[in-house]
Amino acid sequence: MSANSAIIKFAFMEHKEICSPGTRKKHSAKCKFCKVSLTETAGTTSTFTRHLERRHPESSALLSSTADVTGARQIEEEVGREMASMETSAVRRCNS
Ligand SMILES: [Zn+2]
Repeated sequence: MSANSAIIKFAFMEHKEICSPGTRKKHSAKCKFCKVSLTETAGTTSTFTRHLERRHPESSALLSSTADVTGARQIEEEVGREMASMETSAVRRCNS
């Protein structure tokens, strides 16, 4: 499991990718806590992270506490690989 999907699995539901011609692929998810839907460019989670930090700081702290600092670099590398494969499969889906 990557850090990218960790926050979404932790605090969001109805996660889906949005693929529309002429625009960058996006993904959206609904906050489990306040039911707000957020949309962001695929492969990034800063909107989701920021929402959690601002609206649900206690939950944000809980998620952070589960992340091992020494493993952070390893997670980043895993996310990079996963994002690369996500892009490839997304292009295939978009063109189909
Ligand atoms: Zn929320």
